[in-house]
Amino acid sequence: MVNETQNDAMLTPVMRQYFAAKKAHPDCLMFCRIGDFYELFYEDAILVARELQLTLTARDREKKQPMCGVPYHAAEIYIQRLLRKGYKIALCEQMEDPKTVKGIVRREVTKVLTPGTAVDPGLGAGESCWLASVVSLKSAVGVAMVDLSTGDFRATEFAGADAWSMALDELGRVNIAELVYPQGELLGASLKLIGEQRPDSGPKAGTPDSVLSAALEAIRTKTALEDWVMTVEHALPLLRQQFRVLSLDGLGLGGHEAAAVAAGGVVHYLRQTKQGALEHLEAVRFYERSGCLELDSVSVRNLELVEPLFSGETVQTTLLYTLDACCTPMGKRLLRATLLRPGIELTEIEARLEAVGEAAGDLRKREGVRRSMDGLLDLERLLGRVAMDSAGPREVLALAATLGCLPGLRSAVGDFESSRWRELSGTALRSSTSNAKSDSPTSAPGFDALEDLHELIVATVVDDPPVNFAEGGVVRAGLHAELDELRELSRSGRAALVAIEDRERQRTGIGSLKVRYNSVFGYYLEVTKAHAKSVPADYERKQTLVNAERFTTPELKEYEAKILTAQERSLEIERRLFAEMRAQLLACAGRVRETARRVAEMDLMTCFAHLAALRGWTRPTVDDSCALEFVGARHPVVERRMEESGVGRFVPNSLYLDSDAGPAILLMTGPNMGGKSTYLRMSALLVVMAQCGCFVPAERMRVGTVDRIYTRIGASDNVARGRSTFMVEMTETAAILNTATRRSLVLLDEMGRGTATYDGLSLAWATVEHLHERIGARTLFATHYHELTLLSEKLSRLKNVRVTVKENAGGIVFLHTVEAGAASKSYGIEVARLAGLPTAVIARAREVLKVHERAETQQVREATAEPARSLQMTMFTPLSQRIVDRLAEVDVDDMTPREALSLLAELQREIQE
Ligand code: ATP
Repeated sequence: MVNETQNDAMLTPVMRQYFAAKKAHPDCLMFCRIGDFYELFYEDAILVARELQLTLTARDREKKQPMCGVPYHAAEIYIQRLLRKGYKIALCEQMEDPKTVKGIVRREVTKVLTPGTAVDPGLGAGESCWLASVVSLKSAVGVAMVDLSTGDFRATEFAGADAWSMALDELGRVNIAELVYPQGELLGASLKLIGEQRPDSGPKAGTPDSVLSAALEAIRTKTALEDWVMTVEHALPLLRQQFRVLSLDGLGLGGHEAAAVAAGGVVHYLRQTKQGALEHLEAVRFYERSGCLELDSVSVRNLELVEPLFSGETVQTTLLYTLDACCTPMGKRLLRATLLRPGIELTEIEARLEAVGEAAGDLRKREGVRRSMDGLLDLERLLGRVAMDSAGPREVLALAATLGCLPGLRSAVGDFESSRWRELSGTALRSSTSNAKSDSPTSAPGFDALEDLHELIVATVVDDPPVNFAEGGVVRAGLHAELDELRELSRSGRAALVAIEDRERQRTGIGSLKVRYNSVFGYYLEVTKAHAKSVPADYERKQTLVNAERFTTPELKEYEAKILTAQERSLEIERRLFAEMRAQLLACAGRVRETARRVAEMDLMTCFAHLAALRGWTRPTVDDSCALEFVGARHPVVERRMEESGVGRFVPNSLYLDSDAGPAILLMTGPNMGGKSTYLRMSALLVVMAQCGCFVPAERMRVGTVDRIYTRIGASDNVARGRSTFMVEMTETAAILNTATRRSLVLLDEMGRGTATYDGLSLAWATVEHLHERIGARTLFATHYHELTLLSEKLSRLKNVRVTVKENAGGIVFLHTVEAGAASKSYGIEVARLAGLPTAVIARAREVLKVHERAETQQVREATAEPARSLQMTMFTPLSQRIVDRLAEVDVDDMTPREALSLLAELQREIQE
């Protein structure tokens, strides 16, 4: 439709401008400013009318040009709604004042807003909105991401055969609003993914598109950049220019070309979308994913660290929600980031635990700090808005209010003694040993309370400023002499107008005469029609209305000019002063960010301390052993939910694993609903918490630092992504077996359930053996395959544990206690009965179970008598099951010797076949 009309020589000039703009930004919805409205045309209009429920009209009825519009002053709300839905928007503005131009006003695209580059004012305090980029360079894959709302900009890279899947996994861990990539790049990536993940399935297994959409499905907006953008030649110089450095070494990007090119791609895109000043992007930080306890996206999801497992569920099931007692948005964001990247360095973890312990033990000091943080606004985000010039006077004043609280916070934290607190507050570090040679204290850089910035804002902006600049009145009196004079002039001008009105009323005898103003005619004298004849001869007619006449006089014209020029000029000065203040604030962006970082850390530590004191959590011992041990531990989320609902009480449990000296694998059996999954998840959450430097809900806990947590929990169907339930399970298991180390923690829940019983059992069996023999990772393996418990006889480091249940006349009672030993049965039928299955089905299931159990017991008995190797081979052969069934069916007393012999021969034949 657009092309046809584009050729139309009859196009109006506005439409010609529209098409030119649309051609330059074909992937954007074109918001075209016409008077007081933003108008959209053609496909854009149809789409936006549908998405925003607006009325679709036509610009020219005959030509049927669809059109819809939103008022200019309310456009932001509509724009945000479209951005949240993943659309990109170009603003085509009027570049000249329509009042001063004859003919058509020049229009140009001044800004492109996209989900990753436009900061959403509705973004939650603890949330981030990431614009990411991905690129492959030689053998490495670079990933960069920036959160423009705070200026947090980071990059990393991955090498080796798994580089692409690791990069995509990294993107999957955070909430990416938009991804940029070089054209053609993802096609290459997806082809590679096909090669890696579907080795046997040949080229038909999935088109590049389907795999691409699988890997990147969650990211709604993806923007291809021309290939030359993300090259060493273009991206690296751009990055150096942006951050004004001679070499990228200073940014930690030296030798990491893929990461640097990815970061350069982000900067290019931000500039291209004209996101104004990028001053608050102070630096890009290189980070190593391996510098922390690694959690892949599967584990982050399974453990419900930050999001509930199923979308739409309440966030109350997440660890983030349970631990979020932070006072500030910076603290909340740090908590989320920390849960996704818990520490691995012992000294780091210890320093935080020490500081948390100190704050937990001193209610007065702790509350002092928390009180002084209460109500602190988001320093980083406010700074971001100032940088992007979207902070109005009131927001700048809000920034000042927050800055004003910082000196109080500094003195509140100054009382703490432990090294981490002193490092953050910048108070002198006293020598800890009494026999130290020198008594002179050493100083860390002080906590910068940014008093000068507070003063700057307070001295510039009035106490109660208007929302925007339209009328002026933002800058404080006394700051600028000319501004004060001009204001006085316009004030006295207005007073003079009141005097003119009084005088003219008396002179003409018209009591209703008024001096008025409008933007078209300026100031005028208005007289009702009835009094028009009494108007003196020196009045000059300006306009005639139905009921009134409007006049002016030379004197009025003179005052008008004076007042209007004074107003215009003072507005100009106010804007300039405000811009100067903004520039000064931005020049200190680095200081603000460092202070925000310290506030976030202080908030996080007092939050952990608060929880420890409130909930009676204890300090975990973190060391470099290979142990994982806890006594009287509770699942933090389940326990809290039980307390809140008042239903039940969490039964504490213990665990002991040590891949150096004790058992390395716990094989857990027990009834359905017994608490196996809860126990597994609790173990992982406690490790995450401990390595975040948080106290834990246990009487005592000890953990040797874990390098990576692997989870294979539950069957997550992924048909939409082109992989079956079983395929997902096996892919996840493969990842574990290929990459886990002795320092890892592996959680496998119900492995092998997604396929035929014997296939699943055999895979589970072999997996446990591999973990035991080759990897030695601390492992928790929950299963309903009771046959696996036999492994404890063969594998010395494997220990059986079971969740207990009490049987009584009324059925079963779950005790939720974990104890040594193997469970004898699953009570699946009992649980099904509790769930309400019809009695007839339950009764029949019991009968069938009996037959199978008898057969199985017999088999197992036979098989365990065999040497260990043959155990696997014979025990699970479906063939034997058929023979057992056949034998169980016959009544020997009822057979003749000949029949018995021929049955025997038949069974033998079957075995030999
Ligand atoms: P299935 O084999 O059917 O998957 P499961 O053994 O994994 O079951 P869970 O899902 O862990 O069982 O737990 C079942 C229920 O028991 C959950 O509602 C959980 O809240 C509760 N529960 C688990 N552990 C405890 C505990 N230690 N104290 C109290 N309640 C618990």
